[in-house]
Amino acid sequence: MNIKKIESHPYRLKFKKPFKTAGDIYENRDGFILKVHSGSFIGIGEVSPLKGFNIESLQECYYALEAINQTINDIGNIGRDDLFDIFDLHSMMMPSLLFGLETAVFDILSQESKLPLSKYLNNNSSNVLKVNGIHGLHNPNDGFDIIKIKLGYRNIYDDIKKMEELSNIYGEKVKFRIDANGQLDLVKAIRFCKSMEKFNIDYIEQPIAPDNFEDLAELRLHTKIKVAVDESIVDIFSAYKLIDNQCADIFVIKPMTLGKYSTINKIIEIAKENEIECIITNMFDSAVNRMACMHFALSNNIGNECGISADDIFDLDIAKTPEINNGKLAINDCPGLGIILND
Ligand SMILES: [Mg+2]
Repeated sequence: MNIKKIESHPYRLKFKKPFKTAGDIYENRDGFILKVHSGSFIGIGEVSPLKGFNIESLQECYYALEAINQTINDIGNIGRDDLFDIFDLHSMMMPSLLFGLETAVFDILSQESKLPLSKYLNNNSSNVLKVNGIHGLHNPNDGFDIIKIKLGYRNIYDDIKKMEELSNIYGEKVKFRIDANGQLDLVKAIRFCKSMEKFNIDYIEQPIAPDNFEDLAELRLHTKIKVAVDESIVDIFSAYKLIDNQCADIFVIKPMTLGKYSTINKIIEIAKENEIECIITNMFDSAVNRMACMHFALSNNIGNECGISADDIFDLDIAKTPEINNGKLAINDCPGLGIILND
């Protein structure tokens, strides 16, 4: 590679409806788009850490990028791994920046190889990805097989009523993924799962606080519902620990909170070795990160429905992502990330 410079272009995207996380309400999504220039190619990536999910701030990512730019200034020809080493050196504890930078580099490398990013990473990858729908964003006519809903925040009887309503609306074939964002203690989680067992549940996600590995494991002994972890996975070490402690049936993987492609690949590999299923999801990011997550999920042959369907949540997005039909999307043959940024 002949790296010339890395540009950052800040964006602010307005949510159509304010977006709530466990601790905050957001009117806008803020981040920046990276453009890595190498020879005649431009690779793009996105950096958009989200409070509550990422430990790094957007400002810290800017500072780190400045240091990287100073290091690579006029560096000329450099191999991928040496470049990644420079990124690592300046982006410690900044997974959103690392994922964005590596995405941009893989975008360039796959463009050079005239392959879609997913095929560049794994020549045997499919071009069709299954995704889940989201309650409140999608409706039964959209044809999703799996719908995600946030529950576990309120009175359990209200949650049961909600599930009865949804099961009627969506019909018996549709499965639900319930995300409790770590709100329950062990006793409540057991009671909650028992009450949910009569519904068509795919899994319950992060029922218990992310660092409470002991209770996550205990819960699995008390329910037939599969237990997924999301916020518990913060790095490769936590993934090993979750496996060792038998805390989960499913890993919900957010690349922007984990960073390097090789790290995330390793997490998926050890999960598979231990019969833990993986899904890839994003954090209401712009089209660039959604697209990166689609390629990444395809390159890992993730067969389960991934959480990358929030494609109509902004007044105006940065670019278009593949259309979702009946819970499926297809990546075209366009080399690289295959995304054309709006002006
Ligand atoms: Mg979650």
